[in-house]
Order: sequence, then C-alpha cells, then structure tokens
Amino acid sequence: MSAVKTLVIGAMVALIGVTIYLWGHSDGSDGRAPRVGGESVAAQPKLSPVKARPRDAYFPNSEDLGRNEMRVIACGTGMPTARPSQAAACFLVELGNGDKFIFDVGTGSAERIAALQIPYNYLDKVFLGHLHTDHFGDLASLFVGGALAGRQKPLRVWGPSGQEPKYGTKHAVEHLREMVTWDLDGRKGLVDERGYQIEAHEFDYKGINQVVYQDNGVTIRSWPAIHSLDGPVSFSLEWNGLKFVFGSDTYPNKWFVEYAKNADLAIHECFVSVPAMIEKFKFTPKGALSVGTQIHTAPEAFGKVMSTIQPRMAVAYHFFKDFDTTADINDRVRSTYDGPLSLAEDFMVWNVTKKEIRVRMAIVDEAVWPPPATEKPEQPNPANRIPYSEMISGGRLDVKDVIQPIYDEINKEYGLDEKQE
Ligand SMILES: [Zn+2]
Ligand SMILES: [Zn+2]
Repeated sequence: MSAVKTLVIGAMVALIGVTIYLWGHSDGSDGRAPRVGGESVAAQPKLSPVKARPRDAYFPNSEDLGRNEMRVIACGTGMPTARPSQAAACFLVELGNGDKFIFDVGTGSAERIAALQIPYNYLDKVFLGHLHTDHFGDLASLFVGGALAGRQKPLRVWGPSGQEPKYGTKHAVEHLREMVTWDLDGRKGLVDERGYQIEAHEFDYKGINQVVYQDNGVTIRSWPAIHSLDGPVSFSLEWNGLKFVFGSDTYPNKWFVEYAKNADLAIHECFVSVPAMIEKFKFTPKGALSVGTQIHTAPEAFGKVMSTIQPRMAVAYHFFKDFDTTADINDRVRSTYDGPLSLAEDFMVWNVTKKEIRVRMAIVDEAVWPPPATEKPEQPNPANRIPYSEMISGGRLDVKDVIQPIYDEINKEYGLDEKQE
C-alpha cells in the first residue's frame, strides 16, 4: 500500500471515530453527568461554548498609542450641509509622543471630537486648510466648549493668509472671538478664564512646502491649494519617519503631487460625482460640472493624483457616502488608481506604523461626558463678574426655599458653608 493510501484510510478512520463520538455526545461532553458532592448536577444549564473575542473596532479611551505609532481619526468627511451620519471636514492626528493635532474643524465635527473622550487640554492645536465653513464651522464650538470642558490654555489656530487681510485666518479668528463676546463676558468670574483665548498663527498662503510648525519632533509644512479664491493650502505632518498629508480642498495641483510624495497616509478631497450632484443636490448640469470638476477634485482626478504620488494609503473624503453612492465613487476612483484606498466616513480610524496601516471604525458612546480635566482649574475671581442690571435682577422670583436644600446637601457632602447670593 502506498504512503498516500495509508494516509487517506487513516484519516477516514479518524473521521468515522470522531463522528461516532459526537453522535453519542452532541454536547461534546463525555456523556457522564457531572457530580458535585455526590449529587447529580446534570440539570444545570450548559455553558455556551462562545467566548468573548477581541473585536476589530476602535473603542475610544481603550487603547494606548505605541511610541512609534500615529493614529488618525476622521471626525468629519462630508459636505457643508452636515448631517447625522457625516459632519464636515475634520481629521484628528494623535502621535506616540503625546501630541495631538486637528486638521480642519468643519461644521458638526466638534461632536465627533467629543466622542473620542480626549481631555480638552490636549486639543489646543488646529490647522485650517481654508476658511469655508465646512472646514472651520465648528471652531467656535471647539473654542468655547473645549474651554468649558477643561482646556485651560488658549486655542491655537494655524491657517493661511489671503489676497487681502480680510481673507486671512487672523481676520477670521479675531472676528470669531468678537462674535462670542457676549458668551465669554457672561462667563467672567464664574470659570477659569485661561481657555477663553484664541490665537491666530497666520502664515503666507503662497509658501511652498514651508515649515509652519515645528516642535517636539513634529514638523508641519504647507503649500498652496487651488480652490475658490487665493488662500487655501494643504499640509504635511512629519514625525518619527511617518508622513501624514491633508489636502483640505483643492483642484488637483502640482504642489500636492510634489510634496505629498512618500506619504504614509495621504488625505485628499474626492468630490461627489457630477451625475449625483445633478440628481441629488439638484445642481444644473453646468453648475455641477463647474463645482464638481473645476473647483473641487472629481473622483477620477483624485485617482490620478494618488496614482502619481502612490501613498501607502490613499484616503478619499468630501462626498456623501451612502449605499447608493459608494460603488459609483469607488468605480470612478478605480478607473485611474489601483493602490491602497480608504473611502473615508466619520469615525474611520487609521493606526499607522512603519510596518502596517490598520484601518478600522471607531465605536463610540453617544452619551459621552467630557473626560476629567488633566490640570487643576484656577479659581475664578467673583469680582470679575459683570452684574445684571437692576431691571433684570429685579425680575427674579423668590425660589430660595427650594434652592436652600441643594445648598444644604452640597455643604454637608463637601464640608462647606456656601450661602445663596
Ligand atoms: Zn472649500
Ligand atoms: Zn470643502
């Protein structure tokens, strides 16, 4: 008998044996009732053989970042009309050295950032590619909400100049600060005020691969983008041999294909397809062609850009990613690009190391509360409070009787002697 035949017959015998065994004891036991202290416990429910397994998803606040690892999370991937499933442009970059950076903070993205459970003191650096609201519409929310939730330092915003001062980041940030005057003045004397400051770090939009930030081993560069008006830029962030590139919005351009080279993760806009703009956004054909291919980057052109730079991972965003649009976008990109591709959606996560790029989705707790502040707040000075006018103050109902028990409860719990105003 040949060796192969012997093996086959041996395997068959083993299989029959196992089959007979399982036939007799379909629960996989040895068929004897287990006994505890001489009593049969056969009537007890059987344990499920299914054990918990690690899941291939990212749960915020559950994973330490490796020292040489970069984690990027999409906090907005959609359009100016933010919707429940997609906020507008925002990407968070976290590095193994502890640094965190926000690239664009489009409408609706502050809520996504909140879901990541990162103490707000770490979220003090924002880089804006341009000043469309779908790229900075939630700056006020991050500014004020972040300060309230524990950012005890100014929010720093880097962004480009424009053809005139009124088109620059400094103008936008200063006027945003003006816009929230009532909000911030009303908080004087009530909270730690150090977070209620916002700094604009404006740089020349025409700078070619210029360094706009350098600290703690991180270098961020900018180069011009072509979109709407002069002013927009794209960024690269380099750290520890890893390179992240964020295009913000742009028509395909020569600077991007030059300076995004060697990117580990290259994020570039990939706009809603022209037929979908006509059908779903009700653009005229002329308008759709203009906006979808001349102001923005069409999916086919996105593919051409990525074929040119060949990143380790190409990330497409800036389209509504639905069951009936994803295949179309994918087909159009694939007509010009066959490399690694992520069609981004909100809460997509990329863990980037030299060895691999792991792509997952984050599973978030929607009823999240802000994480505890990492630094002790400064005691507010009640003298800074701006008082109500007599007219408004005189409208207060007397509810001291129902408020007093709250004071009593808190004074007792915390050993205080606070009194009603
Ligand atoms: Zn734009
Ligand atoms: Zn945009």
